[in-house]
Amino acid sequence: MASIQLHDKVFKPYIDRKEVEAIIDAMASDIAKITDDDLLVVIVLNGSMFFATELLQRIKRPWEIDTMRLASYHGGMQSSGQIEFLLDIKAEVNGRNVLLIEDIVDTGRTLAFLHDHFKGLGAQKIMTATLLHKPSQRINDMPVEYIGKDIDDAFVVGFGLDYRELGRNLPEIYVLESWELRIVL
Ligand code: 5GP
Repeated sequence: MASIQLHDKVFKPYIDRKEVEAIIDAMASDIAKITDDDLLVVIVLNGSMFFATELLQRIKRPWEIDTMRLASYHGGMQSSGQIEFLLDIKAEVNGRNVLLIEDIVDTGRTLAFLHDHFKGLGAQKIMTATLLHKPSQRINDMPVEYIGKDIDDAFVVGFGLDYRELGRNLPEIYVLESWELRIVL
């Protein structure tokens, strides 16, 4: 893996494909142990698109899957704190158990927003599976039941994660070089 440039920034290799696959294999076998027969799986786009498809194909359970789309970074490198609904799910939520599939949990604001949203729709139980998690950045203690990998405070791209809409299709995960010199956009 070599460093890559996206727009004006250089990103260096961080988590290789072998590790990404191992993380997903391990999480899939944990999630497959969920005892609920009726589970609504909600893929939170765009960032989790590759993670969700890889993860869910490994779980041989006939669960309903729906998608929703949120925006919180607005093209920058730090969560804006303003979460915008771009697309909501169509599935019925009332009285059901929900598993949210997230790319990365950073401050946890999005998670809190999603919990409020799904509680408001009458969800009985809400669980979350995330590929990456930045524990040092959390501003709340919203639960995350399935965590692929804890990472330090760093801006990462690849495997669904973007920098200003580029980098999502990279098969591995890269980290911004000179993170300590970042400019908050
Ligand atoms: P939170 O609300 O937890 O602060 O932020 C969650 C969302 O911010 C993620 O779903 C993702 O879209 C974005 N995000 C957080 N950290 C990163 C990162 O390191 N790289 C990228 N590309 N997006 C991130």
